Amino acid sequence: MKLPQKGLPKEDIFDRLADFRRDDLKWQEGRAFGYIFDPGQEIMAVGKAAYAMYLSENGLDFTVFKSLMRLEKDLAALMATHLGGDREVVGNFTSGGTESIMLAVKAARDHFRSRRPEIKAPEMILPTTGHAAFHKAAHYLDVRVVPVTVDPHTFRADPAAVRRAVGPDTIMIVGSAPSYAHGVVDPIAEMAAIARENDLWFHTDACMGGFLLPYFKRLGAAVPDFDFTVPGVSSISVDLHKYAYCPKGASIVLYRNKALRKPQIFACSHWVGYTIVNNAVQSSKSGGPMAAAWAVLHFVGDDGYLEIARRKREAVARIAAGIRAIDGLRLMTEPDMTLVSFTADGTDVFAIVDEMHQRGWYVQPSLAYDNSPAHIHLSISAANVGREAQFLADLAASVAAAKEAKPGPLQQMLQPVLGGLDPENLSGADIDGMLVMAGIGGGSPLPGRTAEINAVLNLLPPAVREKLLSAYVNDLFVQD
Ligand SMILES: *Cc1c(COP(=O)(O)O)cnc(C)c1O
Repeated sequence: MKLPQKGLPKEDIFDRLADFRRDDLKWQEGRAFGYIFDPGQEIMAVGKAAYAMYLSENGLDFTVFKSLMRLEKDLAALMATHLGGDREVVGNFTSGGTESIMLAVKAARDHFRSRRPEIKAPEMILPTTGHAAFHKAAHYLDVRVVPVTVDPHTFRADPAAVRRAVGPDTIMIVGSAPSYAHGVVDPIAEMAAIARENDLWFHTDACMGGFLLPYFKRLGAAVPDFDFTVPGVSSISVDLHKYAYCPKGASIVLYRNKALRKPQIFACSHWVGYTIVNNAVQSSKSGGPMAAAWAVLHFVGDDGYLEIARRKREAVARIAAGIRAIDGLRLMTEPDMTLVSFTADGTDVFAIVDEMHQRGWYVQPSLAYDNSPAHIHLSISAANVGREAQFLADLAASVAAAKEAKPGPLQQMLQPVLGGLDPENLSGADIDGMLVMAGIGGGSPLPGRTAEINAVLNLLPPAVREKLLSAYVNDLFVQD
């Protein structure tokens, strides 16, 4: 591919950019229950204007762009107060939950490298409901994940199982507030107490709930303690680009004190160029996300967020009641916040997902893992409020339509063998063959209906799913 010899007219460029979005998720109508946290035009416009205003400023060096240090300190201090922290709590701005989690795991790892050098292969105790970002951080940072099965009914972490998992190489324990998939808050106080007794690091992953749960609590919801008011909590991740409705690229990682945060900071003077001191993973970075986050938080204000939270809480109650009332559907558990998951007994959930997509709704399919069956996930946000009745009517119709769906031939044929596949013994050719069978070989685009592919993936061991999907994506991102 080559650049055009002469630059294109502006109109052509924007026409083409608009056209590229043709097949994207249509989120503007409040029919997407994931990916987009849409606060409405007015708030979004404030975020965009502030983003554009600070687009060119460079977060590489806060001694040159003092404005960005001001914004970052304000945002960290606001979240420290929001999450029960005292004046000792410190934090930094990051590009998202993944980066916040990556930094907290690195800080924990390096904290124990100096304090407990005898630990050569550090371990993180992670309930099976812990976000994939912890697996990613563990993978990048060479920390081993020790998975712990959660309660099969509430899907909350089981403190007794966590206690049993503590071993000589454990450095940290993770809890979620709430977990992404099932939307429940782990027993953070009990888990953090185990960490304290064993002199371990405890991280609360409040990427989803850190901003919203305090508002739910004020509205009367029974929210278990999860923040710095809980003794033993060392660090917290809280995303601003979720329920604080800030433009994407906005999260905060907080530490109980400066000593814990210290290993997060990276300095480099071992080269011939400028000396680097970085708070986070990225070096050169736009000031846009930070300014936008500051602007949106100050524009909406505390009363504004409380009101949005109240409307969401009512919508969640209506949606949960509606799901309970649909024959064949079952809530996975009672939601603590705004994340609702449900499954279907005797109907293919992936077929329901496709039927909903046909009706213009985006709901998220989730594969079976450990004691959690295949299910459908909803992240309910401001733009979804007011559409509950239409959503539930379409959901009931989708369930009825999906009941008619028969398992595809591929699934029937492969069912007996798939579950027993050994990821270690799969060759590249086996993987390619499976992709061709699933209809997505050679980097071919995903078809509109994905029920069959999901059903096949659902039958595979997780490690085989990972191999298959990595191979698929490696084939997909090639030159056209
Ligand atoms: C979204 C989320 C993350 C990861 O955050 P990104 O912003 O997608 O990187 C981590 N944990 C939980 C609970 C989340 O909901």
